[in-house]
Amino acid sequence: MGNPSNGNSNGCHSRTNSNLNKMCKVESCSNSVYCKEKCKRHYHLEYRELNKEKISTQKKNYREINKESLKKIAKEKRQTSEYKEYFNSYFKKWYQENKKAHSNRTKRWVEQNKERMQKIRKEWENNNLQRVRFKNSKRRAIKKRSIPNWANKEELYQVYLNCPKGKHVDHIIPISNKNVCGLHVPWNLQYLDIEQNCRKSNKFDFTYDNNTWLTTNNKE
Ligand SMILES: [Zn+2]
Repeated sequence: MGNPSNGNSNGCHSRTNSNLNKMCKVESCSNSVYCKEKCKRHYHLEYRELNKEKISTQKKNYREINKESLKKIAKEKRQTSEYKEYFNSYFKKWYQENKKAHSNRTKRWVEQNKERMQKIRKEWENNNLQRVRFKNSKRRAIKKRSIPNWANKEELYQVYLNCPKGKHVDHIIPISNKNVCGLHVPWNLQYLDIEQNCRKSNKFDFTYDNNTWLTTNNKE
């Protein structure tokens, strides 16, 4: 057991007194001899040079045998904040230097992978339903100019984020009705069952509660 550099019976790889007194035979190197008249560094450099093939097969075999655990280690490494920071700064620098090429490549990739892009997008939307609804409603509200610039966007987003499963966020006073333009603000939002929301649609009964749609027939 122990440090592999601590010797064998031949006196090689060891720091015997005789070795310590001799110097590495590589010119301009003043380290003491480790093995074969060379210091540790130069000995290993030579060994690697002479055994290139053998080492590369060994490495290959090692990677093959440990595929899964190596993958796991790499993944864990990618998730550390140090790595993310390193990657981000590296990527930022790279991106600044390769902006055009990157955007061209991205464009090309998107064009060649339309179906895949659609799938990725769908998946993201399914995992971020409330965010999608928030974004869509914001877009619609802006289009309808019903989002005042003093509205608290974070508060609005919270309403969408906290929407119970199976419910929709509804504008009590609709933002798209020929007689009225409700505001896209938290106090004009409520949670409705999807079925109710469809029934209500953009009906407006000229009251602040705007809830007579609940008791009237489907027909307008
Ligand atoms: Zn040396």
